[in-house]
Amino acid sequence: MSTAAQKTDLKNLTQEKLIDFALSLGQPAFRGRQILAWIYRPGIHNFDEMTDLAKEFRALLPEHACISRFTDPILETSIDGTVKFGFFLQDGNMIESVLIPEEDRNTLCVSSQVGCAMGCTFCLTGAMGFKRNLTTAEIVNQVCAVRDYMQASDKGQLTNLVFMGMGEPLANLDNLLDSISILTEQRGLDFSNRRITVSTCGLVPQMITLGEKTNVNLAISLHAVDNETRNKIMPVNSTYPIAELLEGCKRFPHKKRQRIMFEYTLLEGINNSDTAALKLVDLLRDIPCKINLLSLNQTKGSKYRSPDRNRILAFQKILRENGYTAFIRQSRGEDISAACGQLADKKQIIT
Ligand code: SAH
Ligand code: SF4
Repeated sequence: MSTAAQKTDLKNLTQEKLIDFALSLGQPAFRGRQILAWIYRPGIHNFDEMTDLAKEFRALLPEHACISRFTDPILETSIDGTVKFGFFLQDGNMIESVLIPEEDRNTLCVSSQVGCAMGCTFCLTGAMGFKRNLTTAEIVNQVCAVRDYMQASDKGQLTNLVFMGMGEPLANLDNLLDSISILTEQRGLDFSNRRITVSTCGLVPQMITLGEKTNVNLAISLHAVDNETRNKIMPVNSTYPIAELLEGCKRFPHKKRQRIMFEYTLLEGINNSDTAALKLVDLLRDIPCKINLLSLNQTKGSKYRSPDRNRILAFQKILRENGYTAFIRQSRGEDISAACGQLADKKQIIT
């Protein structure tokens, strides 16, 4: 009999890995596919509920495997309907996921790490530092828990997933790829690739791998148009400077009509001048893209300020006049610290 620690958490396994797991227990490959279908069915938490598995196999499974899940999240609801979920992990760490209901979609903002090592100076998760990568199970369990919450509270279906929660998803590439496999597998959570977006601060080689191995959408946190400024606010820029990052975007293998999303957080006096807007027009010229302008979500002690509304509109106007699709992204859930860059383990912030 294995101890709990030695048991395989089946939520860590893609279909391919579940097939290997079934084979390792002397079972035919199709048992792996059957297990995948069972573990992502809402409400199924035990092996004895998997009624089409042979009885002996069902009895054998608990000795070798377990099925993790997130229970009892801390919920906070914003006046705008945004819901923040705080999930406690087995090691005592906490992560957050944010549900953003809109008229035509329900988007979940998913975390990929506890903290983040990238150190962007405007981001609260960055200020927390890096604790650890999330496992594949911990990534997919955020989606399972929120799906179940929505079902239980009659809130409709989860339609879109964005890896814009805590952490840099491409710094946890293996678990990210396995989780995307489970999220998009028909027997898994059955999301279409088109409805998943991975946002990165710009880890170029990992970005190309993501494009080669999946068809998900890519979002790039650009936030500056010259290396001097970007180095100051995003330390990753000293490893992958702007030219290299944009070269990677040009090489990014994407499907027809899929455009890269550039995120640009406007910081008063730092990156929000007309000259910066014109430089952005120039930089992105050969890349099929759209641009999201984010106003800064002020965090405690932040040395940056958000520009006023007119400045943001003027910046957007320049992009639009030059043929770009540029939206100003409405900040959601600011009152419950669920907005971009406000996610951090509270225990950590207090100390
Ligand atoms: N690590 C990834 C994804 C998580 S952050 C990335 O950086 O892309 C999600 C988005 O929120 C990124 O575009 C990030 O730059 C932005 N962001 C971080 N802190 C912010 C803040 N205080 N105000 C506005 N946007 C912020
Ligand atoms: Fe990490 Fe993204 Fe925050 Fe930068 S903006 S510190 S990459 S989570």
